Amino acid sequence: MNKHITVLPGDGIGPEVTAEAQKLLEEVAVQFGHTFEFTAAHIGGAAIDAEGTPLPEQTVARCKASDAVLLGAVGAPKYDRGPASGRPEAGLLGLRKALDVFANLRPITVFPPLAAASPLKDEVLTNVDFVIVRELTGGLYFGTPRERIQTDHGLEVVDTLRYSEQEIERILRLGYQIAQQRGKRLTSVDKANVLESSRVWRETAERLHAEYPDVELNHLLVDNAAMQIVKDPGQFDVIVTENLFGDILSDEGAMITGSIGMLPSASLGAGGPGLYEPVHGSAPDIAGKGIANPLASFLSAAMMLRHSFGMFAEADAVEQAVQQVLADGLRTADIAGPGDTPLSTAEMGEAVRTRL
Ligand code: ATP
Ligand code: MG
Repeated sequence: MNKHITVLPGDGIGPEVTAEAQKLLEEVAVQFGHTFEFTAAHIGGAAIDAEGTPLPEQTVARCKASDAVLLGAVGAPKYDRGPASGRPEAGLLGLRKALDVFANLRPITVFPPLAAASPLKDEVLTNVDFVIVRELTGGLYFGTPRERIQTDHGLEVVDTLRYSEQEIERILRLGYQIAQQRGKRLTSVDKANVLESSRVWRETAERLHAEYPDVELNHLLVDNAAMQIVKDPGQFDVIVTENLFGDILSDEGAMITGSIGMLPSASLGAGGPGLYEPVHGSAPDIAGKGIANPLASFLSAAMMLRHSFGMFAEADAVEQAVQQVLADGLRTADIAGPGDTPLSTAEMGEAVRTRL
């Protein structure tokens, strides 16, 4: 297959990890007989420096014209004092909007060789490998009205949780589809005992189930879901939920892995290119030193292969190569133990490529 990938290295360690991820994708192309074309563009602080804005029009145009986007990270301390619209982070928010991505996927994986870093006991960490599918464009984060009202008895504040049925349906469909590609179990998380939006959510999940009969559906209230994620995280395959619940649960999920710096993410829209990036930020404290861990970027590239290109064997190969370097005891500084000699970013990249 022939695919066009836009690479947005961004700031801090972003350029260091995406350079290695691109090399890994080039190796995938060679081994599996594909052609990947890469185009780089600016975003974030790097775009401000080069073009005076965190999201140049050319960057958006290139991303839209490609099959998928691989992003490094945005953000640098030197921009923290300017207006919000001129900060590097505005570039990423603008890009998500421009690409109309409505779903955020965060795999929660415990890598057995790194499990000691998890705050959970070993007994509950077997087979922890699930995905949280979070709705990104609706709910409390965007609903209006949103206001402060001065009343006779003092200040009142209003936020609005608003969803259209169409928004609920498309995220639930994606949840079902991802479950079909994985363990065929979908957990829909809501608060249907209290919220009207959650009742429609639950009804919609039930209605769509007829179209995905091979997927086992169950419902969890969000408070119970928060408990189950620490009590028995191995029970989950795919969790699908609305914006706020997903925001909270995906950080909870990330924390139990003990390897937050290793986690990838994907943001998907309807038909357009997906956006793939590590969960970690630009890590200004270690930028430029060549010691950043590129594995989260590699796993983001694996998600691109799977979700944007339908290259399942290729995605599995990348993930297995990452598992293999860990099993072989290779570590970058952030995940190294007392006896380990840490690898540089480039050495880790090389180690994964040779195991592919
Ligand atoms: P953001 O605000 O962009 O979410 P942050 O400042 O909260 O980011 P990170 O930039 O992710 O957080 O960095 C948090 C800590 O983790 C820093 O000490 C950083 O050096 C470390 N870190 C993050 N990513 C990596 C990585 N890929 N390799 C090594 N260390 C990392
Ligand atoms: Mg930061």
